[in-house]
Amino acid sequence: MNEFTIIEKYFVPLASGKGSLNLKDDAALIQTPLGHELVITKDALVQGVHFIGNEEPSEIARKGLRVNLSDLAAMGAEPFGYFLALMTPSSVDENWFRSFTAGLKVDQELYGITLLGGDTTRIPGPLSFSITALGFVPAGQALKRGGANPGDNIYVSGTIGDSALGLKIAQNEWQHSDSFLLQRYNLPEPRVELGMALKHIATACMDISDGLMQDLRHICNCSGTGAVIQKDLIPLSKQAKTLLSQMHNADEIILAGGDDYELLFTASPFVSEALEAIAHKTNVPITSIGKITENKDIELLNNEGSRIHLSKWGYDHFA
Ligand SMILES: [Mg+2]
Repeated sequence: MNEFTIIEKYFVPLASGKGSLNLKDDAALIQTPLGHELVITKDALVQGVHFIGNEEPSEIARKGLRVNLSDLAAMGAEPFGYFLALMTPSSVDENWFRSFTAGLKVDQELYGITLLGGDTTRIPGPLSFSITALGFVPAGQALKRGGANPGDNIYVSGTIGDSALGLKIAQNEWQHSDSFLLQRYNLPEPRVELGMALKHIATACMDISDGLMQDLRHICNCSGTGAVIQKDLIPLSKQAKTLLSQMHNADEIILAGGDDYELLFTASPFVSEALEAIAHKTNVPITSIGKITENKDIELLNNEGSRIHLSKWGYDHFA
C-alpha cells in the first residue's frame, strides 16, 4: 500500500461532489451560492486526547466529522463539504483506512456533504487528524455568540451530561450495560437542522463542547451580559439521571462535562411558540434553563433559589 493507491482506492470515491474536482487538481474550486457567505471551521482530533484509540476507525472518523458539523450548526450554516488532513503512525494498515473511510462515507450521505481535498502523511507520533468543514449561510444571517440581550431566555437542545458519562464508561471507570451514554460520547449528533432553523430566531448561539457553564460564559462575554441558570431545569436523559443519582460529583458532570455537542442559544421570550414549532419539526427537544441578565455575573441557582458554587466550570486543554 502506498499513498497514491490509498488516495485512489479510499479517498477519491468520497470526493465525487461539487468542488472537489475528484481530487485530480492541486486544490478544490468552490463557488459560493449567490447571496451566501462561506462558514469555515476546523477541529483537530488526537489519539489519547480526543479519542481513546480502541474505537472502530469508522467511529473515530464520524466523530471527527460531526464535531465540525456541530460548529457549522452553531452558526446556522448548511454543511457543504470538508477537507481532511490525516497523520497516521506506521501501525495503521489498509483495514484501518477501509474502516475510517467507510465511516466518512456513512456521514457524508447522512449530512449531504463531500470530501473536497486534504493530505495524508505518516508520522512517528500518535494517530491524529484534522478536518476543516465548509458550509453556507445566507449573507448576514449567521448565528453568533455576541447577540444575547438581557431578558432573553437561555435554551439548550437535547440532553446535557450524557457524553461526559459516556467518556467515563469508555475509560472503564464503570461497567454499564446500557449503550446509550457511550453512544452519546462516541457519536455526537450535530444539530444541523436545528441550527439552520434558528436563523432569525436565536439572538446568540454556540455548540456546547467544553462544558455548559464555560460555554455559557463565552456567550455572556461576547454579548456583554450575565446569566441566571436554574440547575433543575437542565434537561437530563433518564439514563444520565439514574447514574448521576449515585454520584457525589453529579453537578460537575452536568455543568462542566464536555463533548455534549448540543446547541446553547438565547432568544426573546416572545418567540417561544416559534421555538416549540421548530423543536417539533426538527424532532429535537429544546429546554429553557435560565435568563440573560444585564448584571454580568453568571449565577447558578438551586430550586430554592440559593446560589450554587462550582469548583470547575469546564474543560480547558491548557489548564
Ligand atoms: Mg464550537
